[in-house]
Amino acid sequence: MPASPADRETPPVCARWTAASPWPADRPPFAIILGCSDSRVPAELVFDQSLGDLFVIRVAGNIVAPSQVGSIEFAAERFGTPLVVVLGHSQCGAVCATLEELERPANSRSPNLSSIVDRIRPAVEPLLDTGHDRDRDELIARAVHANIRKATDQLRHGSAILERLIRERRLLVAGAHYSLETGLVEFLDGA
Ligand SMILES: [Zn+2]
Repeated sequence: MPASPADRETPPVCARWTAASPWPADRPPFAIILGCSDSRVPAELVFDQSLGDLFVIRVAGNIVAPSQVGSIEFAAERFGTPLVVVLGHSQCGAVCATLEELERPANSRSPNLSSIVDRIRPAVEPLLDTGHDRDRDELIARAVHANIRKATDQLRHGSAILERLIRERRLLVAGAHYSLETGLVEFLDGA
């Protein structure tokens, strides 16, 4: 008697896709990168990695919004990838746009763009009252670092799944800064 459809073991669609792919299923991406969309900061080139090495999420200002968190949850759970790196960079246009918005609020800004600025704003707004705003380059550099630290903090505390993986020592969240001027990546202490 032929087996009924319910008796057959049907692998999930994604498992079939994995088996048919040219990349070994036992070599999952070893790091998840949440980076900026800036064309000068492609994660694979910055870290000198190849196809299959990194699970990359890119969004202007490397912000943490639900779709980014969901993507990281997916990779961490599905592939067991043990490292998340929030990769910010010098001269970040999204951070600069947020500073400009704070200094000269524009009513005509697109609500979609505002949704990005509004997620960067809490990290950089406190810097405007500390005297660092006198030096423009210094202010932007501090704002970029603050935005990286804010994103790592949100990832550590904004998802029950990620919190559990961190508690079980199966996931590490780190913050890093890429310098467009030097080409070097600096991992931030405590970020
Ligand atoms: Zn950027």
